[in-house]
Amino acid sequence: MLLTITCTGENASAISFLLYKNPYRPQKFELGYGSAYVFYPELSDKKTAAALLLDINPVNLARGKEGSSNFVCAPSGLFDYVNDRPYVSSSFMSVAISSVFRTAMSGRADEYQQLSDSLLNLEAVITMLPCRSDTAMLNRVFEPLGYEVKIDSFNSDDNFPDWGESKYVNLTIKGNVRLRDLLKHIYILIPVFDKQKHYWIGKDEVDKLLRNAGDWLTNHPEKTFITSRYLKRLNPLVNQAFEQLVACDTQKEDNQEEDKTPQEIKEKRLTLNAQRLGSVVAALKNCNARSVIDIGCGEGNLLRFLVREKQFENIAGADVSFLALERAAEKLKLSETEYLKEKVNLFQSSLTYKDARFKGYDAVCIIEVIEHLDLSRLNAFERVLFEFTKPRFIILTTPNREYNVKYEYISEGKFRHNDHRFEWTREEFRSWAEKVSLKYGYTVKFSEIGEKDEVLGASTQMGVFTLCA
Ligand code: SAH
Repeated sequence: MLLTITCTGENASAISFLLYKNPYRPQKFELGYGSAYVFYPELSDKKTAAALLLDINPVNLARGKEGSSNFVCAPSGLFDYVNDRPYVSSSFMSVAISSVFRTAMSGRADEYQQLSDSLLNLEAVITMLPCRSDTAMLNRVFEPLGYEVKIDSFNSDDNFPDWGESKYVNLTIKGNVRLRDLLKHIYILIPVFDKQKHYWIGKDEVDKLLRNAGDWLTNHPEKTFITSRYLKRLNPLVNQAFEQLVACDTQKEDNQEEDKTPQEIKEKRLTLNAQRLGSVVAALKNCNARSVIDIGCGEGNLLRFLVREKQFENIAGADVSFLALERAAEKLKLSETEYLKEKVNLFQSSLTYKDARFKGYDAVCIIEVIEHLDLSRLNAFERVLFEFTKPRFIILTTPNREYNVKYEYISEGKFRHNDHRFEWTREEFRSWAEKVSLKYGYTVKFSEIGEKDEVLGASTQMGVFTLCA
């Protein structure tokens, strides 16, 4: 599948600076499900076109995907191997855009900032966009954003005119827009027309929608259609996204509040993070682990510690959030550091679904993640980790709820973070950990991390699980 973005007008070739992609050298990017290529079919000061070509590997797709045999609770299907994914503009293209053009999407352009903030004469061609016979919807979605829309449709098969029109079209949109807005529009709107999203739909998707569409979606006449299709008609999520879109202004105020967090509290949080990571690294050394996977690795705080230690020869990080993984790769400087590319593997996955890539490491770390899982998914998580992955060691940390009264910023009955679904007391954590250890053949040792209060214990609790021989 192919996306081309063409800029016409004075100094059109400068678009390559905004895209952060060298026009004189085609580049290849490895993504979990295939490869993406960026090249420039046309390059002049009057007109420059950049192309993003996605080459999907259907075999990779079959691994760990919903509907595939690697997916917990789902039977395997022919869909794994026979499908339209390699050819159409689908959410895979969206993921490729966010991965390959991430800086351009953010609008940061260093010395070209003025150009990045300017409206440019841009045209994007999206090939093979699935839209059933719903082409009028393409106009209703793209025109209010200021685009001229052109749709090329085809026969399903010229040899069999009775089969009628194909459900795929080539879409051209043209307008005076900032490059970052064009990319965000395409990023969000391709999955709106492609009904099969390939990755897990959850709260993270709501965040993504709001981050990339908050400003232009609020007043869009097709807001309902876009939001519900993007979130695949999962009503609780759609409602949640709506509530947040409506509450956009309040949210901005809240963010300002967050910035007012007293320096002292920020510093305490930093110290606690450092202590936690120090304790995890010490526990890993005690276990003599040589290979480690950090699941729910976030932006790679632990990974950055691990890569510095010779003992850890093989390191992986997994997270359900693609954005977090991108930040982790950036902070680790993975693309610039050859030996790290060999040593560290980052991939997107969820802890609540079986994934063969979790296997084969001496130790699995689950650091401040379990409290983000819905209680109804805890059983799936236990089976994935203790029964299916079954490493020799598991190191798991989670907040100690009893300690929350020490934090003035947490109101009574609230959790430390909006996204926490629960927080355990020491007793609750112990009884859960002992129950799973017994069930799956592990022993567990507990410790506390952070300043310790005699009555309340410390802020973080840690369990080190060891597989019985
Ligand atoms: N371990 C990191 C990040 C903790 S924040 C650290 O200590 O800094 C929690 C992380 O868990 C987030 O990055 C979130 O995206 C991830 N997460 C939430 N649910 C998950 C799931 N089901 N599978 C994998 N990761 C998940």
